[in-house]
This record gives sequence, structure tokens and C-alpha cells, in this order.
Amino acid sequence: AKALGRNGYCFFETSMNADAREQLQLLHDLRLALSRGEFVLHYQPKLAAPGGPLLGAEALVRWAHPTRGLVMPDQFIPLAERTGTIVPIGEWVLDEACRQMAQWCSADPALASDWSIAVNLSTLQFGNPGLVECVRGTLARHGLEPRRLTLEITETTAMRDAAASLAILQELHAMGVRIAIDDFGTGYSSLLYLKRLPAAELKIDRGFVRDLEHDSEDAAIVSAIVALGQTLKLNIVAEGVETSEQQAFLTQLGCDALQGYLLGRPMPPAQFVETFLPTGMS
Ligand code: C2E
Ligand code: CA
Ligand code: CA
Ligand code: CA
Repeated sequence: AKALGRNGYCFFETSMNADAREQLQLLHDLRLALSRGEFVLHYQPKLAAPGGPLLGAEALVRWAHPTRGLVMPDQFIPLAERTGTIVPIGEWVLDEACRQMAQWCSADPALASDWSIAVNLSTLQFGNPGLVECVRGTLARHGLEPRRLTLEITETTAMRDAAASLAILQELHAMGVRIAIDDFGTGYSSLLYLKRLPAAELKIDRGFVRDLEHDSEDAAIVSAIVALGQTLKLNIVAEGVETSEQQAFLTQLGCDALQGYLLGRPMPPAQFVETFLPTGMS
């Protein structure tokens, strides 16, 4: 029931359902999380095969909430995106991933191999007019070579305003940053548009990998995406690889890199160093 307060304001707390109140509390906490330093990045490897050389790593944000524990991005990124908080959070993610990568590069000069750190950009971040300068400034601040950074944007984000996206991606590409098209196959990009995108990498959505061995349609789609990627000279990364059967199948189909629990789960930086950069850096 609605009750009117002394000032005539509605005591909405009492009439609000538990779910809405929960979201409001989460949003309140989310606004403070950045200044309280509660976000952490986990890193997941991209490899051609288990135990093989590192081809890249994706930075994935987690929220170390004081009472809820480690909150996964699916539980706060959509909220952050709706409320605009994603922009400062995304800037922090970019800064932290570049700082970490620069540290890894300088700690081990033998890390001269070509792998790069991948950072996800949400739709709102991608549409933010300050993005290109933010990326440029972040790279300069950490002295990180642009080719060491891959920016992942989903196919759907890239297609929202195709002409504007193309212009932004061209600027980032001109800077030397790598572009990956994430969740590929779930959107509706035209082949002509894809051809014009200055992307270096296509990531096949996990949805096509899950039942690959049992679903001949999924296998045909993956095979078509690989063929397309090869024609356009893009690196093909398959996401969500959990079994050695999927690995064998995807490798046989011509995927260049695999990402998934089979090859390594997203993990804290110390564990990532220990597992994938075993040359004794801190
Ligand atoms: P995504 O970019 O598609 O990231 C891949 C997700 O798949 C990650 O979930 C990863 O942990 C998960 N994954 C990897 N391998 C496997 C596997 O073998 N099996 C299964 N079932 N899952 C696997 P996560 O970390 O929960 O992130 C979910 C989504 O949240 C990401 O999807 C991305 O869209 C978003 N996200 C994560 N970090 C950031 C960030 O820093 N900024 C932005 N804007 N979005 C982020
Ligand atoms: Ca991604
Ligand atoms: Ca993805
Ligand atoms: Ca996804």
C-alpha cells in the first residue's frame, strides 16, 4: 500500500517489490564500487591448443563486493550499461588491463611474442565520444604499444550505427590497436560491412560451440564463419571450448585460437602469471 510521508513524498520503499529494491541497492553499491576499489580483473588465455603458446588473453571484470562476494559481470554490467556507470567502470578496466600488460611486457623482455590483452567495450562505451582519446591517453600513460591491445566489441554493437561504428573503428585501427568482433554469428552484419571493418579477429559465439559435435547445423555455421574469416584474413577465435572433442573439431575446421574452460578459466593475475607466463615475474 502507498503511504504518503510528511512532505507528501511517497514512501516507495514499502510498495516497491523486493526485486526493484534489490536493484536499487545494487546500483547504489555500484556507484561507490569504483572509488572503493572493489573491481578486479581476471584473465583468460586464448591458445591454439592446450599448453600451446599464448596468442592473447581476455580481461574480464569482477566485482569483489564486501558482502555478496565475487559478483560476475552478467549481474552488474547490464545495470551499469543502463545507468551510464559503465563508462567510468570501462575506463578503469581499460586502464588496469593496460597497466597490467605493460608490467608483464617490461618484466619479461622475452615476452616479445605477439600476444595482446583484450578488453571488452560495451555499447555505451563504444558510443562515448571520448573513447578514442581515452584509449590513446591510456596507452601513452602506460607506455604500451597499441598492437598489445585488442578491443572486443560485439557484432550487435558494431551494427547499431554502422557508419558511425566504422569511423570509430578506423580511428582505433589507425592508432594501431587490434579490433575483435565478439559474439560473432549472433548479429546481422552484412558481408559488405564486415569486409570494410578494420578488424583483426572474429570470435565465434559460444552458442555455436556448445553442441558442435551433435548439431550438424552448428558445425556448418562454424565452418562457414571460418571460411569467411579466412577470406577476409581475420584471426578466428572460438569461445566456450569445454571439451577435447570440441577442440579437435574446431582445430580441424581451421580456427586459429581457442578460448574456454578446457584451455583455462578466467583467473586472477597471480595465477595467470604462474600458469601462462612462467618466467618468474611478480
Ligand atoms: P564475453 O565477452 O563473451 O566473455 C566470455 C564469457 O564467457 C566470460 O564470462 C567467460 O568467463 C565465459 N567463458 C569462457 N570460457 C567459457 C567456457 O568454456 N564455458 C562457459 N560456459 N563460459 C565460458 P564472464 O566473465 O562472466 O563475462 C560475461 C560477459 O560480461 C562477457 O561476455 C562480456 O560481454 C561482459 N564483460 C565482462 N567483462 C567486461 C568488461 O570489463 N567490460 C564490459 N563492457 N563487459 C564485460
Ligand atoms: Ca569478449
Ligand atoms: Ca564473446
Ligand atoms: Ca557472450
